[in-house]
Amino acid sequence: MSESFPTNVSPSREMTAAFFRDSQIELCRIQTPSPEPGEALLRTRMSGICQTDHELLHGYQGFSGVPGHEFVADVVEAPGRRDLEGSRVVADINCGCGECPYCLGGMENHCPSRRVIGIREKQGAFADFLTAPAGNLHPLPEEMDDRRAIFAEPLAAALRITQQTHITAGMRIAVLGDGKMGLLTAMSLFHVCPEVLLMGRHGDKLDIFERVGGRTLLVEPGEDPALPGNNHPGFQLVVEATGNPEGIEQATRLCQPQGTVVLKTTAERPASFPFSRLAVQEQRILGSRCGDLDLALHYLRYGLVDPEPLIETILPWTELPWAMDRSAARGSKKVLLDHMAREERTTSQQEEHSG
Ligand SMILES: [Zn+2]
Ligand SMILES: [Zn+2]
Repeated sequence: MSESFPTNVSPSREMTAAFFRDSQIELCRIQTPSPEPGEALLRTRMSGICQTDHELLHGYQGFSGVPGHEFVADVVEAPGRRDLEGSRVVADINCGCGECPYCLGGMENHCPSRRVIGIREKQGAFADFLTAPAGNLHPLPEEMDDRRAIFAEPLAAALRITQQTHITAGMRIAVLGDGKMGLLTAMSLFHVCPEVLLMGRHGDKLDIFERVGGRTLLVEPGEDPALPGNNHPGFQLVVEATGNPEGIEQATRLCQPQGTVVLKTTAERPASFPFSRLAVQEQRILGSRCGDLDLALHYLRYGLVDPEPLIETILPWTELPWAMDRSAARGSKKVLLDHMAREERTTSQQEEHSG
C-alpha cells in the first residue's frame, strides 16, 4: 500500500476510507471529500485508535461511517485560508453550526446541531483525506513529531479537568483507571497536585506513572478499588476514567462527603447509578469531555507530559482491522496508524527541509 498522492489532488479523485457498519470494518474506495465553504482539505499523516472507536464499531450512537478523531494531517487546500496550506496540523473535532446561542457564546462543543469529526455526522481520519473547518486547525511546531502531536486530542480531554474545577496542591486526588485517559489525566494533574494517586489493574501501566514520580495503587483482579488504609477520609476529587459504566459507583465510594467525581467514561451500556449515596454524601458529579488543544500542545511541546511510553505500536493504517483487535486486547496501550508509506514519509520530509 505505497500508492502516493500528489499534494494538489483534484476533489474528484478517489481515496481509501475505512467504513464501520454493523460491527464490521470495510476498507472502501470512495470519493475524496471537497471542502465546504470555510473548510480545508486535509491529508491524514497519522491517526490514533481510541476507546470511542471501539464503541462506534459496536454501534455507539447508532454510528455507521468513517471514524477517526485523533489525527495529525497536512493541509492540502484551504480556499479561505491560503496561509494554512502546507502546514501540518491537529484539529478541534467539534464543528458547531456557528449561528446558535451556544456557538455565539463560545460553547461550540455543546452546539445542539454540531458535527463531530469521526464521531457524529462528519467523516473522520481513518481515510486518506478528510475535511475540517479551517478555524478548527492548529498548526504544529516544526520540532514536534507526529507520534507526539497525535496525543494532542486525548491530552486536551485529560487537561479539561484542570479548566473545570479548582485544584489545589494539597488536595487528595485519585484517578480511577490506568487506561490511556487515566494515565494522561494522572500525568497532567501531577503538575498541579503532587499527591495524585493513580489506581488501576495493570502493573506495567502504573509503572509508566511511577517512572515520572507519581504514586499508584494496584487493584487486584476481581477486587473493587478501595481506599488506601482504614482511616483514609476519602478523596476530595476522584476522576473516573475506567471506561466502564460501573466506574461511577466505584468512584463515589472513594470520594469523600462533599467531594467531586469527574466523569470521563462515555460508555453507553447502562449501569446502576448511586443516586442515594450522592444525595447523602452531598457529592458533585462533573461531566468532562473535550479540551483545549493549545494547552495540550503546550504540555507536549515543553515535555510536561511525555506520551511516548503510552504507544503500544505504530502500524500501516490499512491494517486497521488488525490494529483494532490489537488495541482491544486487554492491557493494550495506544495503537497508532501510519498513513504515509515509509518512502512517502521520507520524501515529504525531504521536501519540507528543502522548501
Ligand atoms: Zn478519543
Ligand atoms: Zn451551533
